[in-house]
Amino acid sequence: MKKPSIDLSECILCEICMDVCPEVFKLNELGYIEVADLSIYPEEGVDEAVRNCPSDCISWEEK
Ligand code: SF4
Repeated sequence: MKKPSIDLSECILCEICMDVCPEVFKLNELGYIEVADLSIYPEEGVDEAVRNCPSDCISWEEK
């Protein structure tokens, strides 16, 4: 199964991913973007976030 992954060292907290795909990308209590724990991820929404992330720091990883 593949899961979205965020390179937090590149993330500028623009929150675009949260606007594009709020069911997957959340702001946690530490102020970082995190990926929700889902059994299946919406491919189109995540791909849209990947395309729109200005820092190019969202990717799919196999788990
Ligand atoms: S779109 Fe990219 S840079 Fe912006 S908050 Fe999401 S992961 Fe971070």
